[in-house]
Amino acid sequence: MTLPRQARPAALSASVLAVTLALLVCAHTRWPDAQHLKVATGLVWLAASAAVPLVRRRGSRATVARHTLAAAAWGAGTTAAGLFPHAALGPLPFPPVVQALSLLPVAAVVVQQLRTARVGDHARSPLVEAVFLATVLAGIGWDGYARAGFTGDAGWAAGTVLVLVTASLVAAATTVLAVEQPRLRLCGIGLAIGAVGTEVSAVVSAEQPVTGDVGTALGLLGALVLVVRGPRTRLVRHGGAAAARAVRRQRVAGAVPAGLVLADVALFAVSPRDDVLMLVFLGGTVVGAALRQAVTARAVDRTSDRLSFQALHDPLTGLQNRTALRDALTEPDRVQSLVLLEVTGLDDVTDVLGVAVGEEVLRAAAANLREHVTPLGGSTYRVRHDEFALLLPGAPDKVARHLPGVLDAVSAAPLQVPGAGRFPVDALAGLSRVDPGTPTDGGATLPLVHADLALRDARTNPRGQGYSVFSGEVAAQHARRLKVRERLAAAVADGAVDVHFQPIVDLTTGRVVKFEALARWDDAELGRVSPVEFVPVAEESNLVVALGEHVLRTAVDRAHAAGVFDAGVRLAVNVSVVQLQSPGFADVVRQILSTYRIAPELLTLELTESVFLDSDSPAERVVTELARLGCQIAIDDFGTGYSAFGYLDRLPVHVLKIDRSLTQSLTTGGNGRSVVTAVVDLANRLGLTVVVEGVETDEEAAICRSMQAGLGQGWLYSAAVTADRVAEELQREHPVSGGVW
Ligand code: C2E
Ligand code: CA
Ligand code: CA
Repeated sequence: MTLPRQARPAALSASVLAVTLALLVCAHTRWPDAQHLKVATGLVWLAASAAVPLVRRRGSRATVARHTLAAAAWGAGTTAAGLFPHAALGPLPFPPVVQALSLLPVAAVVVQQLRTARVGDHARSPLVEAVFLATVLAGIGWDGYARAGFTGDAGWAAGTVLVLVTASLVAAATTVLAVEQPRLRLCGIGLAIGAVGTEVSAVVSAEQPVTGDVGTALGLLGALVLVVRGPRTRLVRHGGAAAARAVRRQRVAGAVPAGLVLADVALFAVSPRDDVLMLVFLGGTVVGAALRQAVTARAVDRTSDRLSFQALHDPLTGLQNRTALRDALTEPDRVQSLVLLEVTGLDDVTDVLGVAVGEEVLRAAAANLREHVTPLGGSTYRVRHDEFALLLPGAPDKVARHLPGVLDAVSAAPLQVPGAGRFPVDALAGLSRVDPGTPTDGGATLPLVHADLALRDARTNPRGQGYSVFSGEVAAQHARRLKVRERLAAAVADGAVDVHFQPIVDLTTGRVVKFEALARWDDAELGRVSPVEFVPVAEESNLVVALGEHVLRTAVDRAHAAGVFDAGVRLAVNVSVVQLQSPGFADVVRQILSTYRIAPELLTLELTESVFLDSDSPAERVVTELARLGCQIAIDDFGTGYSAFGYLDRLPVHVLKIDRSLTQSLTTGGNGRSVVTAVVDLANRLGLTVVVEGVETDEEAAICRSMQAGLGQGWLYSAAVTADRVAEELQREHPVSGGVW
């Protein structure tokens, strides 16, 4: 047996109202009589005990067992009391005694429930339980009261006991709830007033109508407070399907006791008393309970709608989130394309203009994307800080046609945000195919993995059009990366990575003044692997720390052995950002310098610009520390990245290495030459040494000389040589052609 999927509040309150009316009719027509109703109520409780395991699934097994037992005991007791109204146990009447006994397990449950009441989704049950218990106690009391003939000492005594028991119980409930959950304080007070008022009314209205009416009014007031301030169901926070399930279960869990309370209230209704106010009170309480149920259910609905919205949407952009994307990918009904979009350049906006502007740009990008994608029948998601995803109908080769427009939609974003326009923001994209009918979990994961690989391909493929479609080739590249990583880890562990040395030459004298150490790796299985390939792989896996340390140590060792330092010639070693940021890097450098007794200024550490872009990065501290040690700091590949100059006077930089691509542009026309001239001028003015990389021809060398660039490096002079040829290179004097081009 399963629970109803969605117990609609309207249906619920309608049925509660129907039961109320039925009860009121019963009360007026005196049919069925109290005894029959008691039997019926008892049977309902017995049946309900079977349902307890269904509605109390959240609790531990012991809790469920306790609840089942309590409901069954109370059901059996009530049934027995109804069946044998005139039986006696010795001097005592049977019905109240058996009912009192059968109430003990219920009391135990309620006490337990109150004790463990916490802010959270248990919060409503103690209250419901307290209402229920108070009603039951009142029912028994009323039973005894009626039995005693409404008047006289016995009746008064029964009534007084009843008032005291109920009041103290409700007071206890109120205290516990108020301590645990201050929000419910008023609710608890309402409950207490209502219960006490009801009892007063029940006990005294026959003899003292005015006091009785006051009691009834208090009862109504308490009911009103309960209706208005009734506990709202607290929901599981994480939302999603789990929250929706929890809400449903709670709703049913709330409906069952409420129904049972109604059944017990019926006992009041059919008691032999013609008190219209009493009936009004009963009607009010029941209608109030129904209303409260409806209000709570509506609040639950709204909250659960909000929660499931929150669970599936990104608060910043309002787009659907990663969970929603996974849901959409789980059971695709047609061929679609998944596009993962990475926004680049956002960090600059955030760093310079602040987080708020960065978020504004993201919001604009999200809006543009949605505007662009919705007419294509697609949907837009934000899956990470700077990553969006699109699901578009059709296979990737078809969808790829829309991608230039999609990428433009992202690039347009900063122009829509005041002040952000001067920072270019771009997007890279990876596409994969989503096939219908793929098994559930694999279906959700595979396209994501593929699109991610394609995105990575787009990222590492600078000549691409900004996006890449997942293919066998992309998969093969990924496999190759994994292989390289695996083999490289072994090579680093075995010290199998070698170091070669490329001379750096004074452009005017032709003398070698420095060597750059370059990692070389020949693998038995993969053959020679270029550092252009394996360094990025090493960086991804942190392997670069061990690799870098090995290269640094080996380079210094070999250069030292070849007499490089003795000749006053410098050594440059490449250091990756990851390596620079690894703990203890400066200590490693210090230790190597002291082991070989090398003047620190003879060691240059080549870093790329990315190190300096993030002004909060710990890398800056390390750079400063290294410079304080006396090492020289070189900016590698200058002119390829951001070419921000700001950090040049903020940080200890000694050397600027002009990238090969700029060198090539010297002779290919265009304004490459003026760019290099400007950079060289600036560097000279800041007192930095300029190294022109990738000098391959005399022409290039001559141009560099004419620009007053100090040093050159490139195949014109020498490619990187093995360590045993370093001594030879030291002696070499490279011809300097005099012509100015
Ligand atoms: P890089 O630091 O810019 O190194 C210079 C690269 O240019 C070297 O490639 C060198 O062989 C090449 N090169 C030198 N002269 C010429 C020339 O005239 N024309 C052309 N076309 N190329 C020339 P290599 O050795 O393949 O290194 C590539 C990159 O790998 C390096 O670029 C550097 O970023 C990285 N790398 C190499 N060794 C290491 C290392 O030990 N640690 C780290 N972190 N990176 C390294
Ligand atoms: Ca370098
Ligand atoms: Ca370089």
